[in-house]
Amino acid sequence: MLVKGEKQWRVVKFADNRSYLCAMNILDGKIAAEAVKAALKVQVAERAAAGKKIPHLAAILVGNNGASATYVAAKVKACEQTGFISTLIRLEETVTQQKLLETIKGLNQDPDVDGILVQLPLPAQISEQEVIDAIDPLKDVDGFHPVNVGKMVLGVEGFVPATPLGIMLLLAHYNINTSGLHAVVIGRSNIVGRPMSILLSGNAQPGNCTVTLCHSKTKELTTHCQQADLIVAALGKPLFLKADMVKEGAIVIDVGITRIDDATRKNGFRLLGDVEYETVAPKCSWITPVPGGVGPMTIAALMKNTFLACSRK
Ligand code: NAP
Repeated sequence: MLVKGEKQWRVVKFADNRSYLCAMNILDGKIAAEAVKAALKVQVAERAAAGKKIPHLAAILVGNNGASATYVAAKVKACEQTGFISTLIRLEETVTQQKLLETIKGLNQDPDVDGILVQLPLPAQISEQEVIDAIDPLKDVDGFHPVNVGKMVLGVEGFVPATPLGIMLLLAHYNINTSGLHAVVIGRSNIVGRPMSILLSGNAQPGNCTVTLCHSKTKELTTHCQQADLIVAALGKPLFLKADMVKEGAIVIDVGITRIDDATRKNGFRLLGDVEYETVAPKCSWITPVPGGVGPMTIAALMKNTFLACSRK
């Protein structure tokens, strides 16, 4: 057994209205995110009472991508919940690189703004890397700037990308001891998979894992997964991870979010993760649902980074 606690089973109804047979040990991102945000709210109130600055997050949303608009709205709502100030700047889909860089420069120079995020992806005419490089590393609460990536690799205080940080907070919330585990991370993107592999291999708790980082060219992916004590699925292929790829008692973190058209839904879509939850969950010691797992933790981690940006001033 990898973790404390006896495994039990129950039928759980998720937000998508389907019922699943689940391991008792669900890594509930909604609950853990509420705990992170509640703690931040107290800290913000203490700062306000002491006459100190309140955290201020500025978000830039380019174009009309539905998913991006939803994510940014959730981030603005989280600011309201925690007592942060938020500013949302909307730019046209056709915005030029120069205009976007000027907007970032203005936010860099604004002493009232603590954290800046530019919602990705950006339209084809924009260089994402140039945009990331333009953000002041001290306000880079998404943790994508090369300075912060370097600091994360070195284990030096900076900003850690929100999704991997959220996963670490989730593991910490449920007091899961990851020391010595063999972790397999599927996906090597700069925003999820690669930083996740660095954090899990770090000399910390959670951390101290032996990490295998897999990608689309990996041979024998199933064999790697079958040997894993902890799997982080972050490849963006719905229902990719099947029960025969997971060993009994494994911890499974599903990062994937894919919108699938669903005419029966009011909003016209449903969300699928990278894990075939129904078949994988019964084999796991711990598992994250989609929705309600990593997603809320990403936002909680962003709030934490913004608070840090403010309090470090
Ligand atoms: P990405 O940039 O597209 O990267 C996908 C990674 O998966 C790449 O490294 C790719 O390998 C690898 N991959 C693709 N197909 C594979 C396969 N068949 N076998 C093994 N590896 C494969 O995606 P991302 O931005 O990291 O996002 C991944 C997923 O997480 C998406 O569904 C995204 O929506 C979701 N996401 C969720 C949150 C959240 O808050 N929950 C946050 C961010 C992202 P190569 O490098 O070889 O191409």
